[in-house]
Amino acid sequence: MTNRTFAIIKPDAVKNGDTGKIYDRILSAGFNVLSAKLIKLTLAQAEGFYAVHAERPFFGELTEFMSSGKCMVLALEKEDAVAEWRKTIGATNPVDADEGTIRKDFATSVGENAVHGSDSDENAAIEISYFFTGSELVQNR
Ligand code: GDP
Repeated sequence: MTNRTFAIIKPDAVKNGDTGKIYDRILSAGFNVLSAKLIKLTLAQAEGFYAVHAERPFFGELTEFMSSGKCMVLALEKEDAVAEWRKTIGATNPVDADEGTIRKDFATSVGENAVHGSDSDENAAIEISYFFTGSELVQNR
């Protein structure tokens, strides 16, 4: 267990004007934001990020969606961060997400599901380093 995870506020949520509300949920859930930036992924960046899903039937749809507009990438810190963030965002498909979770409140479909969260400590480290350099991660609150 480590204390870092990686999050994305996805293009659907940014387009819908929910960036600030979701950022507020992150703070309310007790995460320390080590770094955050608003970026627009290229298709190649999205394909690299989701390479593990390359054989899945929805890969094209997913990578086109993720490169369709601005998103906010964040490196988050909290004790047991990966599990805590997955609990805060809820199930992949919003119809299965618990009440009060971010996906329940902001996602519209299994594809356009508002936020990303790392699924393991190992992937959290890989994903943070995909978007941030070490010096961009600000330790002090
Ligand atoms: P996550 O870890 O909860 O984000 O879920 P997964 O790792 O299983 O899937 C990664 C992302 O792929 C999800 O967050 C969705 O954006 C997308 N995705 C998963 N299943 C589907 C699907 O059936 N259709 C589409 N279009 N996208 C999907």
